[in-house]
Amino acid sequence: MALIVLRFKTALVGFSGLIGKWCHWRPMLRMETLALIASLYFSIASNGLFWRSSLAGRSFDQMDTWVFAVGSFIVLTVIHFLLLCLLLNRWTAKPLLALLIVITAFAVYYMNTFTVFLDPSMLRNVLRTDAKEAGELFSIGMLPQLLLVAGLPMLLLSRVRLHNETIQRALRMRMLVLLLAVLAGAASLMVVFHDLAPLMRNNKEIRYLITPGNFLYSLARVLSTDAEAATRVREAVGVDAVKAASWQQRKKPALFVIVVGETARAANWGLSGYARQTTPKLAQLDVINFSRLTSCGSNTEVSLPCMFSVYGRRNYDEGKIRNSESLLNVLDRAGMKVIWRDNQSGCKGVCNGVEEQRLGASTIPGLCEGGRCLDEILLNGLDSLLADNKGNLVLVMHQLGNHGPAYYKRYPPAFRKFEPVCETADLATQCSPQAVINTYDNALLYTDHTLAQTIDFLKKQNEKYDTAMIYISDHGESLGEKGLYLHGVPYAIAPKVQVEVPMVMWFSPEYAQSFSLNTDCLRRRAALPATHDNLFHSVLGLLDVQTETYDRTMDLAATCRGNM
Ligand SMILES: [Zn+2]
Repeated sequence: MALIVLRFKTALVGFSGLIGKWCHWRPMLRMETLALIASLYFSIASNGLFWRSSLAGRSFDQMDTWVFAVGSFIVLTVIHFLLLCLLLNRWTAKPLLALLIVITAFAVYYMNTFTVFLDPSMLRNVLRTDAKEAGELFSIGMLPQLLLVAGLPMLLLSRVRLHNETIQRALRMRMLVLLLAVLAGAASLMVVFHDLAPLMRNNKEIRYLITPGNFLYSLARVLSTDAEAATRVREAVGVDAVKAASWQQRKKPALFVIVVGETARAANWGLSGYARQTTPKLAQLDVINFSRLTSCGSNTEVSLPCMFSVYGRRNYDEGKIRNSESLLNVLDRAGMKVIWRDNQSGCKGVCNGVEEQRLGASTIPGLCEGGRCLDEILLNGLDSLLADNKGNLVLVMHQLGNHGPAYYKRYPPAFRKFEPVCETADLATQCSPQAVINTYDNALLYTDHTLAQTIDFLKKQNEKYDTAMIYISDHGESLGEKGLYLHGVPYAIAPKVQVEVPMVMWFSPEYAQSFSLNTDCLRRRAALPATHDNLFHSVLGLLDVQTETYDRTMDLAATCRGNM
């Protein structure tokens, strides 16, 4: 017993000695030394995905691989070192580095867990993420890794004291160090250039794995694009838009619903041949299913503005798309009332100039909980909305759909048909692949239900309106295939499951008759390939709106009208 007490005392003395040493450990560093240590840390600890991708298929038995690895390591470190030397000074160094370490830790966690590429469009998504979305992405399981990769370096950083010197001397020193860094970087780049250049050319997206350079670069790009956009006037589109002459013969106004889906992928869509019936209710209705539709983007920030734009993917120019009016403005100009009803994170600029109703923060019991609502909220209150309406009405309903990773929160208990389900955001580590798919499919069942409800509602408006509905998903989703989860892989290399999406159309018989629409013909067209680019012109055509901007060749229903 005495021996144990003695050992305990010795351990205690040893421990307090360590604490004492830690309290006195206050290393004095030059700013440049601190920047170099931080850059080395980033190269080693934050770039696992980059190293795995760039060294894939190489053998460390070969000298070439070692030269390439060491050379690339120096280039990577120098890039971050130069960046830090430009950003850091005596006053900003510690807070900025601390911020960078924390953000990098989060970035690395999400990159590793979901294979996220932090390019400008992904960063735009991150910046537009609201507190509810961020909350769903956070899980207790990520804490140990965050504490290790952020907590430890922060602790060390807190002990560092920075060398104090005159500004002239500091500047001279900084110039000299920068010059040396550029020389070292350039020399290394020359050695590895013949290997590195083709790698970067053929796999452009790899550069978005270089962390924290990726999010710093993407942030600068997004901020500069937004600043430029703020000073430009939105380009008018379809200024000559009017209702075509045929409207004079119509007895009833149109009630046209566009449901913008979220994260529904074609591969799991029952109507498109998925082995599981995830669309049982739509299958009972007389809908037209487009089974070969490709989305404009692999994330909401790209797809939403693009699908409502006249430019589309075939003339893709993000700046132009963001700075021009959307399909909704053209319909509005032609004299239709347009309302955007949102159960998600907003219309991404698509509904600028038309009425927007944000329903996501409603508190209706049974539909809403914890600041989120089920998609049936989009149908809530429609009766009173229509009671006040007289003419043509275009309703856009923006769903929460299959927004991940918390698929299990996207449907009420009655739709928990496929089991077991995954009730966490930690898809990759906490759930089996089948559980992830089951949960995702249950959310699709609920979308099927809300669409059937929408059609039911439209049928009830038959006396007053000619009614139609288009459902179109914004992008797809990866559910663990090739280790990928969620979506947002850069478009050029995005897997099919992220860009092949469902689209469904439904027309009341009266609508089809009034607009001389041959639905059998459209059903045949629906089996052929189509893209988000078709939406703009198809809606103009289906609603019989005339404008120079309308392109008949892009209208999916153009050849199915007028031959009744
Ligand atoms: Zn989306």
